[in-house]
Amino acid sequence: MSAPHATVDKLAWIREELQALQEQGLYIHIRTIQSAQGPWLIVDGRRVLNFCSNNYLGLANHPRMREAARQAIEKYGVGPAAVRTIAGTLDLHLILEEKLARFKGVEAAISFQSGFNANLATIPALVGEGDAIFSDELNHASIIDGCRLSRARIIRYAHNDPNDLEAKIQENLGTFRRGLIVTDGVFSMDGDIAPLPEIVEIAERYNLMLMVDDAHGEGVLGRGGRGIVDHFGLHGRVDIEVGTLSKAFGVVGGYVAGRREIVEWLRQRGRPFLFSSAMTAADTAACIAAVEILEESTELVDQLWENTRYFKAEMRRLGFDLGQSVTPITPVMLGDAHLAQTFSRRLFEEGVFAQAIGYPTVPRGKARIRVMISAAHRREDLDRGLEAFAQVGRELGVIH
Ligand code: PMP
Repeated sequence: MSAPHATVDKLAWIREELQALQEQGLYIHIRTIQSAQGPWLIVDGRRVLNFCSNNYLGLANHPRMREAARQAIEKYGVGPAAVRTIAGTLDLHLILEEKLARFKGVEAAISFQSGFNANLATIPALVGEGDAIFSDELNHASIIDGCRLSRARIIRYAHNDPNDLEAKIQENLGTFRRGLIVTDGVFSMDGDIAPLPEIVEIAERYNLMLMVDDAHGEGVLGRGGRGIVDHFGLHGRVDIEVGTLSKAFGVVGGYVAGRREIVEWLRQRGRPFLFSSAMTAADTAACIAAVEILEESTELVDQLWENTRYFKAEMRRLGFDLGQSVTPITPVMLGDAHLAQTFSRRLFEEGVFAQAIGYPTVPRGKARIRVMISAAHRREDLDRGLEAFAQVGRELGVIH
């Protein structure tokens, strides 16, 4: 029997959805970069000031890291060949993990292919059916997905609100087996910081595991960029620190740092570790060099903060609303998604690459331009950016 002839295109819905995104100003236009990472980029054929990258410390094109990657390729080739549990681990992975553990001041660390994977690996390994996760409502997508994969009950608490967190825990006491509190350290779209000291106390009071995603905190917060736990002096009181190697560290990859048994457990039960090939030798070697650079000097972190303070003070003086940010993440709040896209396009025409961000990355009606400050920006770069923001801001009636 032959199948009935299809009269409706089964993929028509996708075209309709894409069309709707265009109409709502929510279609993401991805630009093409044709140069190395740095304060200036060649993007779509134009030389533009880079206000988009998470390359906080300018390490993504650091000569020492390039050289480390080159030497690793000479010695190990380009591919990891398989997952580590099956084909063995590179000595480089172990060296990186030891260095990361020492840098973070914890017993052990385990690396993953990305920060996203680190979250996907960790949460389902810690909690499952019958357990509960208390999750900040603005947590990163990779935390949300990790929570969903775990099959634990997900209980969201109001953003950065320890009182709501405690109320939610009390409401649910006795209804779950294990409990996990999970929060971003620095929130990637707003640049605000989790009230970790209060959250730690709550975790201790109710004997819940505590996990912090420090993706935007490492290389930024704490002594020499050691992250949010160091920033608040909470060593030994946060069970799991998740990190990424793709932002301040300038390469790509992710990791979990914490107690030895957690790391050992993730080597046995973290699914992206067990079922996906590892970081390449070149990436790993470059990351090792990055940790060494951070350990040797605080110069880059200090420069990042100096640049951040200058740029944000000037932006506020111009009259822009930077929301709750207290970090180098600088959201320029615009509200309307179309306005944000127009603003970003005009900035680009003025030689500044700063991307508009809208739903679903941020809530509807809270569209913004997100400026990422880097230690690599020089004062004249920041001034050029400020000039463009002032001009476009006035032109579009955002400031007066
Ligand atoms: N967590 C947070 C808070 C992030 O901002 C990001 C990156 N956007 C990730 C995790 C994922 O990191 P990666 O890019 O290394 O996958």
